[in-house]
Amino acid sequence: MGTAMVITGECFCGEVTFEVSGDVFDGRSCHCSRCRKAFSGAGSAYALVHPGTFKWTKGEALLTSYVNQETAGLQFCKVCGSTLCGVFNGEVHGVSLGCLNDDPEVTLARHIFVGSKASWDMIGGDTPQFEEYPTPDEFEDE
Ligand SMILES: [Zn+2]
Ligand SMILES: [Zn+2]
Repeated sequence: MGTAMVITGECFCGEVTFEVSGDVFDGRSCHCSRCRKAFSGAGSAYALVHPGTFKWTKGEALLTSYVNQETAGLQFCKVCGSTLCGVFNGEVHGVSLGCLNDDPEVTLARHIFVGSKASWDMIGGDTPQFEEYPTPDEFEDE
């Protein structure tokens, strides 16, 4: 775990930028039908940030939010539509790994909701796969 790490990220058009002053952790890809649409792909590629380590460095006014539960949602660039981060109780809780510019030194350690993945999604490699959300004793690490 790097303590002095600063990771930068931006959307597709570059109008919105951010930085994380700390490590990002608990990388996962969720293959459920909702995440496929929210992240416009085979699933999400998402990792968590520690509270207070995330800040917008440009274009915060260009953000738009979609809150899909009372307290949790996603934030996007209004111009290009990139999914930048997840919010929980009004605070950034994690980032889209695809929007990072720097190596976050984290890997997708779990594929979740593989039971509802798209038929065209061929997941390779040895990364653990879970039919749904893993129960705590199914976690291999941490
Ligand atoms: Zn953009
Ligand atoms: Zn999902």
